[in-house]
Amino acid sequence: MTHDVLVVGSANADLVVSTDRRPGPGETVLGGDTVVSPGGKGANTAVAAARLGANVALLAAIGDDTYGTMLSASLREAGVRTALVRTVTRPTGIAYITVTPDGENSILVSPGANQALDPAAVEGALAGVGVMVASLEVPLPTVERAIEVASAAGVRTVLNLSPPADLGARTLAALDVLLVNEHEAAWLLGAAAEPARLLDLGPRSAVITRGAGGALVVTTSGITELAAPSVEAVDTTGAGDAFAGALAAALAAGAGLEVAARRAVGVAAISVTRPGAQPSYPSAEELPAW
Ligand code: ADP
Repeated sequence: MTHDVLVVGSANADLVVSTDRRPGPGETVLGGDTVVSPGGKGANTAVAAARLGANVALLAAIGDDTYGTMLSASLREAGVRTALVRTVTRPTGIAYITVTPDGENSILVSPGANQALDPAAVEGALAGVGVMVASLEVPLPTVERAIEVASAAGVRTVLNLSPPADLGARTLAALDVLLVNEHEAAWLLGAAAEPARLLDLGPRSAVITRGAGGALVVTTSGITELAAPSVEAVDTTGAGDAFAGALAAALAAGAGLEVAARRAVGVAAISVTRPGAQPSYPSAEELPAW
């Protein structure tokens, strides 16, 4: 089986509860009803790419439990191939999210099964893949191995450095596209550093997402600024993952980096106008003609 896009990353159940205020230590507070939805950066990215028509597989680990079953079903429903989603003997990853009336989130993640995605899982997964996109809610050695194997096999590699992690210099040098938001760029370079310095770390190119400010594409030929369409943002959850999935889908379809990033800016802008992460991702038919 060949895939346009292989996503290496996490799958989590998001358990969201609204509350007037967060409990302090030793305190019990009654909140609203729990809303359970599929999440995790890897699964979100895979769903975003699949909605756009790419042939997408997810390499991930879930538990043999209710949430694992829910995540598999939601991935399949979105058209993501799940043959590489392994079931392991740890509980499915869960994000416990409390939301207060001011819109502020507090999130406690229990990675569970995601931590069982070991580097050996990568072997054999990259044959016939066009673009591999990885993120870091799974063990760093697994992501490093995936980039190493992909790059040796001539597969284009995109790393969404989220959450930030200390990558080896060899991994960075093997990367085609380093994808970061502004916080992650500042974490890598320090505040107020020149975006072009991202290339000094080793990747062939970099993309910096800038929220309502769109994105910057950094290559050896220079920096291109891509403005985001002006939209009414109602929920920016998973916008970065929408961007990653759309970027990978466009690259796999043969677009150059700048065109792919332009599409990703458009897709992510639509995603912020709707609630939730995966449910907010548009299909190819919903996009304006490019
Ligand atoms: P993350 O979700 O990782 O923090 P960003 O906040 O940079 O990443 O958002 C990712 C992308 O989502 C941006 O590059 C942009 O394309 C889109 N986006 C985010 N917020 C908005 C917004 N308010 N208006 C339009 N597009 C947005």
